[in-house]
Amino acid sequence: MSAQAVIDSLEFARTGQTLRGSLSIPGLARLQDSLHDTSGQVEFAVRGGLDARHRPILALEIAGMLHLRCQRCLESLDYPLQLANTVLLVSETQAGAGELDEEEESESEWIVASPALKVPELIEDEIILSLPYAPRHGKGVCARGAAPAPVEPRVATFEALSSLRKNRN
Ligand SMILES: [Zn+2]
Repeated sequence: MSAQAVIDSLEFARTGQTLRGSLSIPGLARLQDSLHDTSGQVEFAVRGGLDARHRPILALEIAGMLHLRCQRCLESLDYPLQLANTVLLVSETQAGAGELDEEEESESEWIVASPALKVPELIEDEIILSLPYAPRHGKGVCARGAAPAPVEPRVATFEALSSLRKNRN
């Protein structure tokens, strides 16, 4: 990873800079638990700018193909990433003192501005936030077919039976 992967975020936004790059998926350590395998890479673009209220922002675009693990059959599930998001840069004092107004708290995603913002970590955060909680193949594609996983009902029945037995004793 080049030295450019670390940016002075406020300066980057004020001067409207753009950073493009790619990240290898094996390098995204916090993503590994969700992945079936680590082939491929992720392309990203970060654009600095100001929003309509002249607040510093970073516009993020992320694209790539991940191989997630299907939660039904545990096989590889192609997951095309196509993210576009804008994050507001706030100062540490704003964030710490609860000085964000309501709109900033609820509607915008924000991060604390840093003179040494690690872009790969920011991109990884965005990817993690975007992933489905329990990815599954569609019907007819999944190796396990459309049959519902039998585990939960069986456990529930077993528990119901054992509590019945307990009640009898
Ligand atoms: Zn599957």
